[in-house]
Amino acid sequence: MRRVRSRSSRYSSTVSWMTSTGAPPRLCGWSSNASRRAISVEPSYPHRDAVRVLGPVGYSPAEYVTKGIELLDNPKGFFMMVEGGKIDWACHANDAAASIHDTLALDSAIAEAYKFYEAHPDETLIIVTGDHETGGMTIGYAGTQYASFVDKIRNQKMSYIEFDKKIEEYRANHTPETAKLVDVLPLIYEAFGLHVMDPAKRAELEKAVADGGAEGASDEAKKAAAAAQKELTQSKALTDLELSVVEDAFSQSMLGEEERASDDYTYLLYGGYDPLSVKLTTILNNKAGIAWTSYSHTGVPVQTSAVGTGAGLFNSVGRAEGDGEHGDR
Ligand SMILES: [Zn+2]
Repeated sequence: MRRVRSRSSRYSSTVSWMTSTGAPPRLCGWSSNASRRAISVEPSYPHRDAVRVLGPVGYSPAEYVTKGIELLDNPKGFFMMVEGGKIDWACHANDAAASIHDTLALDSAIAEAYKFYEAHPDETLIIVTGDHETGGMTIGYAGTQYASFVDKIRNQKMSYIEFDKKIEEYRANHTPETAKLVDVLPLIYEAFGLHVMDPAKRAELEKAVADGGAEGASDEAKKAAAAAQKELTQSKALTDLELSVVEDAFSQSMLGEEERASDDYTYLLYGGYDPLSVKLTTILNNKAGIAWTSYSHTGVPVQTSAVGTGAGLFNSVGRAEGDGEHGDR
């Protein structure tokens, strides 16, 4: 019986061969018995480097699945485990854009496995699951109330890892005294689409809001006020509050890892990541209506889905042991 098992989503905790990028995989662990052979492919890259840009680089997870099936398929059957491990790293760093791109890469990998299932529907089982959630990601943020504006994260052009490197370069050429946030604003715009609104433009919008809220304001003024309010709160411009958060994070970033504050409050703010990097991704995510509760794994339930022979054993959500008649579900 052929077996393909596909694992993960944004819920994985370990580095797997599916996360390898760029260079040919290294194969190891061949068994002499072809029917029970095992192949593991180790990423040839240092930990975390695989997340340096959004989406798959070099060999994609889908390409690994195609190649893996080609290598493993034999009359006695095989088992394959594939993990989208980069999703977990991105969620640890509270970087929604990177996690979404890596989830899409895993989705394409599952599509390759699914083709195999379609060719051998009676002897293939595909299971997709996660070992845990990471980051406590929610669609919903206090600052946007019921709304979300997910298209805003399209503006993110690099993952936190790549941005960290750019900040590191800047830090290497500056001291905390000579470093200026204004120097890195173009980089912040390039990476995240976030910018600081021209003060004159901001004053104009704020005046429109005040005029529209004044007693006896015309319908036109009220309309203009609503539009100005929308631009102030929903634009990709940093609000005053966000700018002060970015300024604090920039100062911490410029200190370098050893000199940074290490108290509990600092951990809550930055989670041990580069302060500027982690604040910019969370600000952008919050503007999009996405929020985070942790830099670690969480107890959020994970879904398991399956297709193929025996799939009925797996297709359930949050179902505990028992027959369900006595409140034991
Ligand atoms: Zn993890």
